[in-house]
Amino acid sequence: MKTICTTCPYCGVGCGVLANVDDAGTVKIKGHPTHPANLGRLCSKGSALGETFDPEGRLLAPQIGTRSAGWDEALDLVADRFSQTIAEHGPDSVAFYVSGQLLTEDYYVANKLMKGYIGSANIDTNSRLCMASTVAGHKRAFGTDTVPGVYEDLEEADLIVLVGSNLAWCHPVLYQRIVAAKKARPQMKVVNIDPRRTATCDIADLHLPLAPGSDVALFNRLLSEIHQQGCVDSAFVGAHVEGFEDALNAASGEDASATGLNHHDLTTFLNWWIGTEKTVTVFSQGVNQSQQGTDKVNAILNCHLATGRIGKPGCGPFSVTGQPNAMGGREVGGLANMLACHLDIENETHRDVVQGFWKSPTMPEQAGLKAVDLFEAVGRGEIKALWIMCTNPVVSLPDADKVKAAIEGCDFVVVSDLSADTDTAKIADVVLPATGWGEKDGTVTNSERMISRQRAILPPAGQARHDWDIMSDVGRRMGWADAFAYSAPADIFREYAELSGLASALNRDFDISGLQSLSDAEFEALEPTRWPITANAPKGSQRMFADGQFFTPSSRGRMLAVHQNATTKAYGETLRLNTGRIRDQWHTMTRTAKSPRLSTHMAEPYLEIHPDDAKNNGIRDADLVRVQSAEGEAVLRALITDRVQKGVPFAPIHWTSEYASDGRISTVVPSVTDPVSGQPDSKAARVTVS
Ligand code: SF4
Repeated sequence: MKTICTTCPYCGVGCGVLANVDDAGTVKIKGHPTHPANLGRLCSKGSALGETFDPEGRLLAPQIGTRSAGWDEALDLVADRFSQTIAEHGPDSVAFYVSGQLLTEDYYVANKLMKGYIGSANIDTNSRLCMASTVAGHKRAFGTDTVPGVYEDLEEADLIVLVGSNLAWCHPVLYQRIVAAKKARPQMKVVNIDPRRTATCDIADLHLPLAPGSDVALFNRLLSEIHQQGCVDSAFVGAHVEGFEDALNAASGEDASATGLNHHDLTTFLNWWIGTEKTVTVFSQGVNQSQQGTDKVNAILNCHLATGRIGKPGCGPFSVTGQPNAMGGREVGGLANMLACHLDIENETHRDVVQGFWKSPTMPEQAGLKAVDLFEAVGRGEIKALWIMCTNPVVSLPDADKVKAAIEGCDFVVVSDLSADTDTAKIADVVLPATGWGEKDGTVTNSERMISRQRAILPPAGQARHDWDIMSDVGRRMGWADAFAYSAPADIFREYAELSGLASALNRDFDISGLQSLSDAEFEALEPTRWPITANAPKGSQRMFADGQFFTPSSRGRMLAVHQNATTKAYGETLRLNTGRIRDQWHTMTRTAKSPRLSTHMAEPYLEIHPDDAKNNGIRDADLVRVQSAEGEAVLRALITDRVQKGVPFAPIHWTSEYASDGRISTVVPSVTDPVSGQPDSKAARVTVS
């Protein structure tokens, strides 16, 4: 029996896991008792990890078309086709689409290969579907994509406001921490702002069932009320904030009736928020996945900047991330508009520093294509060679049938994944077996900037190789042997840490230069540590902005003038479909569906629909319902409930054609995106039901 300390591969809470492995390879999972994120807790998904190693469906060898191939043949083909395409059509004719499931070291190599050596910024990530609006909102307000707070703030707060976040199902261990804190300090209040009455309402002192998409109107009303009640922190604003007047003017003209909230609930919320110094506003996909997601984020940040409630214990805005390494991917430049270490691709000085450090032959000067745009370019034939890593866009991207057609029409598609038969792998030209959780080795960053190690528990299945290793091999075959001569994740991590020191000198927040000299043994033993991690702070840091200094040119936090633009109305005769996660499945179910007990929670894809909508459409409980939009259709089981608002049904995102032939709900979601962040609005499809 051996015990391995590692990190859960699911949500952004980033719980520490102890895996006990016996000689037969049976894995038993417990929460790590001293990991700062969870202190021994795990949710249903994390505790079932040991049930997900079933080899059925596992990709064990490279495939070219329908036949198995050796690694040399497959990687020669990938390198040759990418090189030929670049030679004939230029670097922007190729693209990578990667994933928040990748480890930081995988992400780093993918970015270096695409941006520094191929010379295109056409690499984007499924984090675009998850966090891009927060990234853009943070950058507009703080100058960098910085999460200010730490998890302890949730326990020290006197008021927690949850916005667009079903924390009980989507970040369960943070929810458990709040439940425990509220039990210890019953005076702590929780407000849940969500059009749906979710499981998270169980701990809410107040549920605000706002009209879908009306968050800007609500937080503008709050900013206006903060001013009217004389609760602006004038000293903080005077010393540390810019844009206050413009933001306030925009907020003052806002009509809060768009929220649809009754006067009593709205007033209670405003008075609680304004009267409680220690307030944390937690926000997630209900804010991000919107055609006005970035404005929603800034409307929230405005209120914290105006009151100086940031960088202090028990208060601040707090974005909780969806994926295990969405934060690591953001830090390492996984988005098409970013470079590593929170440097900007469109900033010449930033580019020069990265190019000089990488000794790379080329560097794109413009941002690449964001996820939705990238697949539209594939569909138009402009992207001729595409490599999809560790993600399943045929199920997860909006307008999924169009995405599928685009991939099918692309000249050359590579998929690296651990499963042989995902909807995306089935239509690839080359499929490469990658290691999965329990085999991978490297680092991830959670929602509070905590870098933790994922460690291998079992040897790779079949011929599977690590993503960083596969990409490095292709980089070497494309002619860049020195740049991709990595032999272990520690090599990559040290290089990345060294680059972060150069970034920090350019007034960037992300700095892990204190780890650049780790030996292999020290990397192996690395304890969870929150960045910045520098020579002066080798054990990491607490909350950011404690000194009121931001990363903008003026060092001031920026308040933004934002207006409620997106429609907040239900759609009349048609319905406004909301989508999201459920408690016991993860993304496209490649791992969680292997656990029988996880599959007992919700066995089928379903549509939560209000009783009036069900009646109007002749739908009875448990009927099969056809959900149709201009983009496509899905068939789901009816679940009639007043937990959803009239006119605003809800469906989960997880099911693939493998588990439910017509269950891919993304087929009905249009590819409408936020104009700033490029994040799709996954919560406002116009549908009919029958
Ligand atoms: Fe894993 Fe998130 Fe559950 Fe923690 S809360 S065990 S990170 S899924």
